[in-house]
Amino acid sequence: MSKKHMQTSFDVIVIGAGPAGYSSAIRCAQLGLKTACIDNWCDKKGLVSLGGTYLNAGCVASIALLESAKIYHSLNHNLKEHGIQAEAISVDIALMMQRKNNIIDALSQQIADSFVDHKITYMKAEARLLNDRQVEITPLDQSGVSMLEAKHIILASGSSPIDLSCAPIDNEFIINSTMALNLGAIPKRLAIIGAGVIGLELASIWNRFGAETILLEAQETFLSMADQQIALEAYRIYTEQGLELRLGARVISAKKGNKKVTVEYQDSDGTHTLRVDKLIVASGRKPNTENLAAAEANLLLDENGYVHVDENCRTNLPGVYAIGDLTLLGPMIAHKGIEEGLFVAEQIAGIRNPINYDLLPSVVFTDPEIAWVGQTEQGLRAMGESIKIGTFPLNATARAHAMSQTEGIVKIIAHADTDAILGVHIIGMQASEMIAEAVLAMEFSASSEDLARTIHAHPTLAKALHGAALTLKTS
Ligand code: NAD
Repeated sequence: MSKKHMQTSFDVIVIGAGPAGYSSAIRCAQLGLKTACIDNWCDKKGLVSLGGTYLNAGCVASIALLESAKIYHSLNHNLKEHGIQAEAISVDIALMMQRKNNIIDALSQQIADSFVDHKITYMKAEARLLNDRQVEITPLDQSGVSMLEAKHIILASGSSPIDLSCAPIDNEFIINSTMALNLGAIPKRLAIIGAGVIGLELASIWNRFGAETILLEAQETFLSMADQQIALEAYRIYTEQGLELRLGARVISAKKGNKKVTVEYQDSDGTHTLRVDKLIVASGRKPNTENLAAAEANLLLDENGYVHVDENCRTNLPGVYAIGDLTLLGPMIAHKGIEEGLFVAEQIAGIRNPINYDLLPSVVFTDPEIAWVGQTEQGLRAMGESIKIGTFPLNATARAHAMSQTEGIVKIIAHADTDAILGVHIIGMQASEMIAEAVLAMEFSASSEDLARTIHAHPTLAKALHGAALTLKTS
């Protein structure tokens, strides 16, 4: 678009085109608002790609590689029982990465097409919030700074990996989670700092390709945010797969030398040293707010850089909203950002459609997957709630046997008196798909009896949810 004809005034300007930003921009346009979306994501070659971290260097890349890893592992370990013979299974990592990149490109193009279809003005630029809902635009090609304004601004600039001063990234031996999704070869021996969601997902990928994988986690409790019965089961399954999980292990230094990384960590037994071929730092993420707003804008941030918002995603500035990874309203997960994007767009258009943060599903995309919604057993017990619990092993479903994927359990927690479902926790194949039924049931305030009386197709994995609903008892 020539500068002469460029619009400078909009109903809504969205800063960031990750899942929160692009969903919000599209919904704004669908609701008749004149919308612009500014994004600065560039890949290694300097090419722009819509979709933010989620698409370019997060979830999508991770689940695409995990699928390759599962196939590779299955061909090497599970073919014989099917009576299928194959010889000389090998993996071409470059081709595998190309497949992952093709998926990213296709999905990114879909967002770009959708922007065109919805007549959204998209700019490849750095955007900076100024006073009075003005936005300074610096194009990535440095073709000159310009100014836009809007009645409403939606901040959706996402997050990026936190660097650890004790393990400085060198982009070759000590890498962050983005680089870990672009490795050129399978490391022989790999260590990961942090057994959070990212650490576990990366560990699952590279361990399935045969890398000796060691996770170093400072916390003593494994997956503290998950139901601890499921966390224990996950610990057992991962350990049997060969993942080495060292808990209570705080990394204090990491140095490269002689094509290896020497990692020093402390646990209750003292200080230990590890030598590995690669070290991935997956120690958390921080909101991208560093250059998001000029000082004159007076955007209120907390001491960790999160944007201060109320329950409606409104910042301290009238007409300015923040969504997705920028706020502490919920965890840093793509579907939370998407939901907030839709919510804010509808709010601007005068539709009231609040988000039920209590029913945000969580998923860990490992092999097998972990998924949950609602409250954990330990959380409910700590609150003194009277509860009943039903569990069902996937091992007892015909479908899991047919798929040779019998690891895992489904757990339902309901209120002992009212029978209202309070939490559903799953570890097992396709847990991320199965959890959708539980979210829907809880969204409609279902009881465990409602689930037990709902006819489930047989034989399916979802039958395990039905099985769990039939076994609830107080304990
Ligand atoms: P995290 O905070 O969940 O986990 C990081 C872990 O690193 C922590 O458990 C911490 O104790 C540990 N750690 C930090 N410093 C350490 C040290 N020196 N030695 C040993 N351990 C150390 O962060 P993450 O896994 O990087 O994920 C970031 C965010 O992204 C999270 O909010 C996560 O939920 C989100 N995310 C979600 C998904 C998903 O929903 N599937 C996928 C990717 C990321």
